[in-house]
Amino acid sequence: MSPSASTDPARIAEVNRPERVRAQIAELRRSTPAAEPAPPVETAERTAPYDLVFRGRRILTTAGITDREIGVRAGTIVAIEPYGHGLQGTQVIDLADDETLIPGLVDTHVHINEPGRTDWEGFATATKAAAAGGVTTVIDMPLNSIPSTVNGPALELKRLVAEGQAYVDLGFWGGAVPGNLNDLRELHDAGAFGFKCFLLHSGVDEFPHLEPDELEEYLRVLASYDALMIVHAEDSRAIDRAPQPDGDVYAKFLASRPRGAENLAIAEVIERTRWTGARTHILHLSSSDALPMLASAKADGLDITVETCPHYLTLMAEEIPNGGTAYKCCPPIREIGNREQLWQGLLDGTIDYIASDHSPSTLELKDLENGDFGVAWGGIASVQLGLSLVWTEARRRDISLEQVVEWMASKPADRVRLRSKGRLALGYDADLAVFAADDAYVVDAAKLHHKNPLTPYHGKTISGVVRQTFVRGRLVDFETPHGRQLSRGID
Ligand SMILES: [Zn+2]
Repeated sequence: MSPSASTDPARIAEVNRPERVRAQIAELRRSTPAAEPAPPVETAERTAPYDLVFRGRRILTTAGITDREIGVRAGTIVAIEPYGHGLQGTQVIDLADDETLIPGLVDTHVHINEPGRTDWEGFATATKAAAAGGVTTVIDMPLNSIPSTVNGPALELKRLVAEGQAYVDLGFWGGAVPGNLNDLRELHDAGAFGFKCFLLHSGVDEFPHLEPDELEEYLRVLASYDALMIVHAEDSRAIDRAPQPDGDVYAKFLASRPRGAENLAIAEVIERTRWTGARTHILHLSSSDALPMLASAKADGLDITVETCPHYLTLMAEEIPNGGTAYKCCPPIREIGNREQLWQGLLDGTIDYIASDHSPSTLELKDLENGDFGVAWGGIASVQLGLSLVWTEARRRDISLEQVVEWMASKPADRVRLRSKGRLALGYDADLAVFAADDAYVVDAAKLHHKNPLTPYHGKTISGVVRQTFVRGRLVDFETPHGRQLSRGID
């Protein structure tokens, strides 16, 4: 069941209708007092060559972890010198011996849900959670908010509502749904980072899915202006014919979302990518069965990339308690053997990067009382925990922090063409996190910043603590939001 169980087509069209959204924008502008003129840009007397200097034995640059001094001016990394060079800054931060300075993570898969379902998650809470987890850029998904981001006015409304709320830098995906093919160019030109579509019911009725032939039609158009299509790849026919997920038994839920449904949909995306020459991306890969065909598509030179998520890499079906709806997500968390194959896929490059798919809802919608997997909302809240979760599992496998950061910062930044994010390098934004890799903590859902205190990781001990996060050279203080809104091709 989806929370908005209405299947009234009139309503589906209505909430996203551009005229209606324009009226919402006008109303919001009327009801919001005119913004104070922006305060003058701080022109505090520069008492040193750099605004901010980091000095440390463990700085994760593009040359690996090494001892360096980093100079930041006006939010940009402008100097990288050997340790002991003596860079002078208005503020100087000497890292402790157990701290590594890493580039802030770029999480390209976050559902913020505001406006419209702000009780599920909002810009302020989601971006605070991101900052606390070392994530300095998030790209917001086009659905679960109302309206969905499926036309120009809807993106304008999102930007308006997000204004002054974001603690980290924030970009937006557009949505590709039946009937909006002609709206995509406007979204693209307005700075959307690409377009998301589903190949089965999305979970919310106002964001309907594309059939494979429609996907192909959309890809042809997107290819003409080199835009990226990101796909939730589960096949609707396969899911319709699978057993129903009702009840609190996780194995029954797992059987209702078979690997075959993912495999079939991914095969469709691969072939439609081949036929159109479009750029595509497979979201939240769960079925490791699909790895060989993805590797084959890449070997053929198709411009297709793949992400997976911390929950598929750290959890396993065998350990999910019956009734544990905090673990429900689609596609589902599968068996331990599947998990091991996903790690292999990351290591051999078939999977390109890791994104959280942070997708919370209210506690009520998680049906905690009955634990019914057929009723509960599917989505896992984890944007604050992703780095520590993946690092905890990676270090057990002798995988380096450099590799983890590549999967969670530079690779996703490159795919969405963020030119100044994801690396600690000259000319890049000073988006940085101070990470204590050997520290550990116990996850307490109530202490996380996202809005509804539920996560499947509650009570787990994980390694790696983010002690401080900087966005464009400014420390995130969790009181004053300084995040900036990003546009594809500009930032
Ligand atoms: Zn998602």
